[in-house]
Amino acid sequence: MNRIYNFSAGPAVLPLAVLEEASRGILEINGSGMSILEVSHRGKDYEAIHADARQRLLRVLGLSEDEYTVLFLGGGASLQFAMLPMNFLQPGQTADYVHTGEWAIKAIKEAQRFGNVHVAASSEDAKFSYIPKQLSLTPGAQYVHITTNNTIEGTEWPSLPDTGGAPLVADASSDILARALDYSRFDLIYAGAQKNAGPAGVTLVIARKAFLDRASDDVPVILSYKKHAKSDSLYNTPPVFAVYVVGLVLQWIEKEGGLTAIEARNREKAALVYAALDAHPGVYEPAVTDKADRSLMNVTFRLKNSDLDKTFLEGAKERGMDGLKGHRSVGGFRASIYNAFPVEGCHALAAYLNEFAG
Ligand code: PMP
Repeated sequence: MNRIYNFSAGPAVLPLAVLEEASRGILEINGSGMSILEVSHRGKDYEAIHADARQRLLRVLGLSEDEYTVLFLGGGASLQFAMLPMNFLQPGQTADYVHTGEWAIKAIKEAQRFGNVHVAASSEDAKFSYIPKQLSLTPGAQYVHITTNNTIEGTEWPSLPDTGGAPLVADASSDILARALDYSRFDLIYAGAQKNAGPAGVTLVIARKAFLDRASDDVPVILSYKKHAKSDSLYNTPPVFAVYVVGLVLQWIEKEGGLTAIEARNREKAALVYAALDAHPGVYEPAVTDKADRSLMNVTFRLKNSDLDKTFLEGAKERGMDGLKGHRSVGGFRASIYNAFPVEGCHALAAYLNEFAG
């Protein structure tokens, strides 16, 4: 099989070793005579996979099992936009949200159905091309919500904000497991798996147990964090196959040297692409000018001469590169270079950017 350089924003490239192992698991899991797609979620084979993936995720993130719990939920990160305030924001209470782009505003709009939302900062004034530096926090806010990486706009929080003691909650869908952050700064993190962590179909929720204790009991059972946590994330049938592949991705991350090694490689990859863009200011316009706020995961840019957009994409395709088209809402181009995207692919893109610029 000839693997192309897949710059898709998600679902996105997965490590080949993981795909190979998963394809064996589709035929038979653990010598059981059954496919991973056929086993009961209450049987010993899946239970071991489930428990291992939960423990491994905390280990990779540097979090303790005493303090944190992991849930594997359905519904995508989009369900978390609603489930979070449903559990933690009652009428009359206030949560602070930072508005950094299209996904952040979706989270804000859902939260507004449940309680008061204070927009603690916004980068809308400059088309979300930077990460706000100053937050105006509400004393006693239920939580402060950020989007650690803005997949569409191409910005990423270079460091985590000081919330003045309020719980920090993050949508980390597009950069979870990409950096060696201090994950203990978060009280709750959620992330659709389909970029850095595995296939579509499972959403990772990592929550501080003490924070979960504050969740409402008055929510539908299937949307109750407490209920899922009490059931070890086996309240109902979990997305079995997706969790299995997340476990394989976590094994791969550990083999690669953990998040410190992954981050070093991600920095090297992003630097290659940004350097090529910055070398030709007459041809390319990177969407994010403040270098500190540039995403390591989604490199967004435009051609100064948009008449050449089609030619640029066709040339990329001829060179074995796909998925470079920007999100439909902003246009331009986006190179998504998640953990499993190879360094060679970034060299190839940089070479093409230089060649195209002439
Ligand atoms: N948040 C962010 C930052 C995203 O990038 C995405 C998906 N691209 C979502 C939320 C929505 O995720 P899902 O499709 O899993 O609901």
